[in-house]
Amino acid sequence: MNNAMNFSGGPGALPASVLRETRDAIEALPETGLSVLGMSHRSEWFRGVLDEAERNLRALLGIPAHYHVLFMQGGSSLQFSMLPMNFLRASGRHAEYIVSGYWSAKAPVEARLEGDTRVLWDGRAEGYRRLPAADELQLSQDAAYLHYVSNETVEGLEFAGTPGLPEVPLVCDMSSNLLAAPIDTERYAMIYAHAQKNLGPAGVTVVILRDEFARRAITGLPTLLDYRTHIAARSVYNTPPVFAIYVLMLVTRWLRDEVGGVEAMAAINRAKADALYGALDAEQGFYRVHGERSCRSTMNVAFRLPTPELEAHFLETARREGFHGLEGHRSIGGLRASLYNAVTLDAVNALSEWLGEFRRREG
Ligand code: PMP
Repeated sequence: MNNAMNFSGGPGALPASVLRETRDAIEALPETGLSVLGMSHRSEWFRGVLDEAERNLRALLGIPAHYHVLFMQGGSSLQFSMLPMNFLRASGRHAEYIVSGYWSAKAPVEARLEGDTRVLWDGRAEGYRRLPAADELQLSQDAAYLHYVSNETVEGLEFAGTPGLPEVPLVCDMSSNLLAAPIDTERYAMIYAHAQKNLGPAGVTVVILRDEFARRAITGLPTLLDYRTHIAARSVYNTPPVFAIYVLMLVTRWLRDEVGGVEAMAAINRAKADALYGALDAEQGFYRVHGERSCRSTMNVAFRLPTPELEAHFLETARREGFHGLEGHRSIGGLRASLYNAVTLDAVNALSEWLGEFRRREG
């Protein structure tokens, strides 16, 4: 089994205990004797799963009662569209975007379809190697919202602080770092993250939405594209991805019971990132980390070797050694190790050691 060494950018590694429990649940759930794949979304059992998933997320992230927790479909990409549909269209305001990488660049494209969209900062010309400093953002107090991506999955850049003005609703795509470390939840009007990195399998996207912000949404949208539909129906307006939500619930249990919460998780993630960046920095002339040091992501470590040929050779030998999912994103190439919550410190230590060995062999 290669699951322990899966460094994929997502869908990626899931905790071993969750995989075992999921395997059993596919045959039969202990509570119902039925396969999880055949459970009705209107069953009491599933209502219990949804409620526990929500409860666990609230406890893990400190989400207060005046926020809704929604389980939606369409991935994070649909949120790029739903956000401006609900909160920019006909608002009489403009929306602000920070473009700091491949994924955050996608969001304003959708917003422009809905209204006045201003990109406050764009790192593209610099190759998305750093994040903006606070004094590089010309923020205005009357924006409908400010949108940013807290962790750029492709380039491996992670915001250390939180941008924006307190009076402007802050919206964040946390697809690749939600649940990796504690966050100041109440600073945000809306947070969203698809499951397939730290939360579970693909198919479900978590949206955390402040009630007061949700009330500002325009009316007259298609039913399924209106956040209020999902709030009113408590995430079962139509058939939700029952299986994905079940596994997500197991992951939240694992994080609570086996890891001991998000703060404990953050300490482990820090140790993982330190080990890997340490190994790369030890061979600096050979390995080159994509992002500037001050913006390095704890979740996605994007790096290069001196030549594409060496990179191809690296990937091939890595696979033979049992390391999987190390190819960089198709937009920038190179290599990337994703260190999501379920990737263990042992796995990262093994990879770090092997980086040194590969360098000695090939360099
Ligand atoms: N945002 C970020 C930060 C991502 O990493 C990704 C995909 N990896 C997306 C959005 C798009 O997500 P989806 O495929 O769920 O639409």
